[in-house]
Amino acid sequence: MIKLYGVAGDPIAHSMSPKMHNYWFELYGIEACYHPFLIKEENLRDAVKGFKAFGMNGFNVTVPHKVAIIPLLDGIDPLAKAIGAVNTVVNENGKLIGYNTDGPGFIKSLEKEISDLEQRKTLIIGAGGAARAIYFSMAERGVGEIDIFNRTAEKAEQLKKECPFDVKTKILEKEEAEKLLAEYDLIIQTTSIGMSPRIDESPISIHNLRKDAFVCDIIYNPLKTKILQEAEEKGAGIKNGVDMFVYQGALAFEKWTGIFPETDKMKEIINKQLGG
Ligand code: NAP
Repeated sequence: MIKLYGVAGDPIAHSMSPKMHNYWFELYGIEACYHPFLIKEENLRDAVKGFKAFGMNGFNVTVPHKVAIIPLLDGIDPLAKAIGAVNTVVNENGKLIGYNTDGPGFIKSLEKEISDLEQRKTLIIGAGGAARAIYFSMAERGVGEIDIFNRTAEKAEQLKKECPFDVKTKILEKEEAEKLLAEYDLIIQTTSIGMSPRIDESPISIHNLRKDAFVCDIIYNPLKTKILQEAEEKGAGIKNGVDMFVYQGALAFEKWTGIFPETDKMKEIINKQLGG
């Protein structure tokens, strides 16, 4: 029987997940189909019941359902529970179990460039859902020092307070983050600032960035945000959000099939799709 997978979100038409997963299913000769489901917030409960009733094998969850889905599931893995958000659901013998592959996907995306992640003094810009997944996953991985700057400082304080893993964290104001920037080996931009169409905006000035630092922006539209352009001009290493997107998908695919799929060709496909 053909296995069924999908992604639930609103909006969903723009999602590149169907292209990615259907490519991998074909590549590995797995008889399966991955479909985008436009699910309004008020229909999420019924949708999850339906997915379970017709034996869907697994699905991804995207904006705005990553938090709301948690009470509708039969179980949740500890990291996803700590993060407080689920992006991947696996049907394990009739029980829907939630996982979060966003944070682990981000970490995996850095493996080639950064071998000593634990030693890198890190600044996270932002304290939304993606920042939460990245901060908790990096803390779980053993990164010793991760400071946070967010427009709304209370949200950053809340992240720090709720992190169940051992990590040294200072919450910074914008001016402080800009002044102390030279202290950081790794800067991770997780806000929506700089995303198309507001491509001329940047969350902080990177005047004090060291040229041996590494700057990530998890946005992938545009492929090179203003902060990445400026970091590149200063000679720093840069990475956009394409690799994180591909790895969060690869880790979901592995949870569903036991196969960690090839990612290089997929990054190429996604980059091309985004005009790179
Ligand atoms: P979210 O939960 O809504 O968080 C948004 C963050 O952006 C918050 O820190 C918010 O600060 C900040 N922000 C928004 N508008 C701002 C403004 N005008 N000035 C200053 N700060 C502002 O969103 P999310 O789910 O974390 O997603 C954030 C970005 O990551 C999006 O661009 C999304 O596309 C991208 N993303 C990429 C991937 C990937 O796989 N590459 C995965 C997930 C998300 P406040 O707390 O002050 O509101």
